[in-house]
Amino acid sequence: SASSGPARLDASKLRVTKTLHPSKLPPAEDLTFGSHHTDHILQVRWTSEHGWQTPQIAPYQHLALDPAAAVLHYGFECFEGMKAYRDAWGSVRLFRPEVNLDRLNRSAARIALPTFDADELLKLIARFVKLEERFIYGKPGYSLYIRPVIIATNSNLGVAAPTSALLYCIACPVGPYFSAGFKAITLEAASSVVATRAWPGGAGNHKIGGNYAPCIAPEKAAKARGFQQLLWLFGDDDRITEAGTMNLFIVLRTEQEGCFELITPPLDGMILPGVTRDCVLSLARERLAPSGWTISEREICMSEVVHAAGVGKLVEVFGTGTAAVVSPIRAIKYRDTLVQCGLSRHQSAGAITALFKEWIEARQYAVEEHPWSVPV
Ligand code: PMP
Repeated sequence: SASSGPARLDASKLRVTKTLHPSKLPPAEDLTFGSHHTDHILQVRWTSEHGWQTPQIAPYQHLALDPAAAVLHYGFECFEGMKAYRDAWGSVRLFRPEVNLDRLNRSAARIALPTFDADELLKLIARFVKLEERFIYGKPGYSLYIRPVIIATNSNLGVAAPTSALLYCIACPVGPYFSAGFKAITLEAASSVVATRAWPGGAGNHKIGGNYAPCIAPEKAAKARGFQQLLWLFGDDDRITEAGTMNLFIVLRTEQEGCFELITPPLDGMILPGVTRDCVLSLARERLAPSGWTISEREICMSEVVHAAGVGKLVEVFGTGTAAVVSPIRAIKYRDTLVQCGLSRHQSAGAITALFKEWIEARQYAVEEHPWSVPV
């Protein structure tokens, strides 16, 4: 009724129109990231007046947007990246989906887009994934990358809170990120003088489109100089934040013989709270802390890393993210020096880096039954 206010997101209202033209499955060895999509799209429209409309799953299709749509002018866009896996028994599982959907809600709120009932969106995504299940190859390293998005669709050109929006979700079958074993990358450290990804009071801790485009030109320049990704620093003291679109972890040998510290920068507003970051911290506290490791969310500057490398205390550096799980770092170019990150020339990943990949994948593929893996 009119008195009940804008409608809440309601998964029970879902309408499904299946495609009459199912696509041929791409060859397993052909799945470079994002190159293929599944057959359907999940869509839910929202208006400030009426709230969330009827959720629809329809054949994959182009969007029709007014050229004045606010997303195209002021960047009202937020998104997520999450995955579904097939376990050893053939069942489909989502990995910590509630964490991604919470983050999507926080991103939406930050840019004045509508928020939603995360349990309802999870039900819709589960239905969508179930429908696209044939795109999840039952091989190690394969998964379905799921991309939920919210955009503002209202077409008045005033810069103001969106009055209409579209939430949609597409999916891509993906293969192993490292198909021929790990490949360690070299980072170029970008001081604030070169470029800054995020800053105090900004929005770098949210997954909004506006955070990504400005990183590409500096990254392209670093690539031209022979570095795979940028290490984003902040402040006069060259504090470490993130690497490319990954969170960063550093393993140091401590003063006490045989003891180690695992360090990642704290969630101070300049760091995207990565789901994989949280997995690493949680597993480290569970499995490494009991044997004397210190697990630290703390500030760390380049000077500390350079010093540690110089005295042989820099053990390993790795990035974390949904796409690769962990990404070993071979070296960091900082000012005039190439800081070696603990790998021998023939080594493509450190032991701790490899261990975290193994531990996390065991839960993703439900080799280890764990609440992080949610059957759909
Ligand atoms: N930082 C940034 C800027 C990212 O875009 C991502 C990818 N979402 C990450 C870190 C890693 O986060 P997650 O582990 O949730 O994929």
